Amino acid sequence: RFTAFVIEDANGKPKGGFKELSVADLPDHEVLVEIAFSALNYKDGLAVSGKGRIARKLPMVAGIDLAGTVVESRAPDWKPGDRVVVNGWGLSETQWGAYGRFQRVKPEWLTRLPDVFTPEQAMAIGTAGYTASLCVDALEDRGVIQPGGGEVLVTGAAGGVGSVAIALLAARGYPVTASTGRPEQADYLKGLGATGIVERASLLEKGAPLQKERWAGAVDSVGGITLVNALSQTVYGGAVAACGLAGSTDLPTTVLPFILRGVALLGIDSVMAPAARRERAWARLARDLDSGKLAAMTTVEPMSKLPELADAILAGKTRGRVVIDVNR
Ligand code: NAP
Repeated sequence: RFTAFVIEDANGKPKGGFKELSVADLPDHEVLVEIAFSALNYKDGLAVSGKGRIARKLPMVAGIDLAGTVVESRAPDWKPGDRVVVNGWGLSETQWGAYGRFQRVKPEWLTRLPDVFTPEQAMAIGTAGYTASLCVDALEDRGVIQPGGGEVLVTGAAGGVGSVAIALLAARGYPVTASTGRPEQADYLKGLGATGIVERASLLEKGAPLQKERWAGAVDSVGGITLVNALSQTVYGGAVAACGLAGSTDLPTTVLPFILRGVALLGIDSVMAPAARRERAWARLARDLDSGKLAAMTTVEPMSKLPELADAILAGKTRGRVVIDVNR
């Protein structure tokens, strides 16, 4: 038996707590994985705290990310001993997830863990880091950012997506400006490779629909007025990769940046992204993410602290990435 974090129905409301499960309780998918580590993402904070309706059926084992080793497999592509990662694919929403020592998963959800990463490092990256990589892929594909070229804005900079995005962009030689509400994290952000810092508050005030052109591209994990301002300050022909809602789900903008400056809003989804896109994103992480920078942005915490960690990430108080040790 092992301990899992399970969301259950409590008088019509989702309520999470620790529960003992056995392998026999798990869904009948083809591949049984022994999970070494999971992670804490913003969405995990919403699920664990019950503040967001992430689980769409109950009971639900929470946790959207896992890294571990295949123990049993009825699928030809996977065999015992294979080192694997799962990011998203509905884990913690419609499929039982990662907060426990074992889980059974569908073979098509598995990504092979690149040799350069340990399972702990893979979860230090996690969905947030892999999404940051998808954002950089999208900006490069659009052809809007150049090494040594115009500035790239990263919002929510000291968070998980933001921290990894800074490190990946800096590794390719793109000048990165980090937007943070925590000025005391300036040294941390510069250590990851940020060349400039802007105050979060300056992007939270609604400005003119077209403002001074500043950003060649942007990675936005905040949404709301922050995303509106990022669009309004993007240069002619530039693009903003939008992946998050840490500030707001609203987008009260005008069409002017799109129709007068040809600015593109690139939507980024990690959960159902096809395998080829995932492999490419993980290959960038393997190539460009410095292990020292990854260590600097990571803390490892026991699963027993999940409830308080969930509140901390929703309050914007965690820095970088939190790895969850599912055996403690
Ligand atoms: P995180 O670690 O909590 O980072 C979010 C950061 O945003 C915070 O650290 C904070 O950075 C800033 N922030 C928090 N509250 C804010 C507010 N009210 N107004 C402005 N800024 C605020 O979360 P994460 O795991 O990196 O995820 C970031 C966002 O991306 C979340 O909304 C998440 O759901 C989303 N996401 C989406 C996908 C996808 O597939 N599209 C995948 C992963 C994540 P500073 O203190 O530096 O300002």
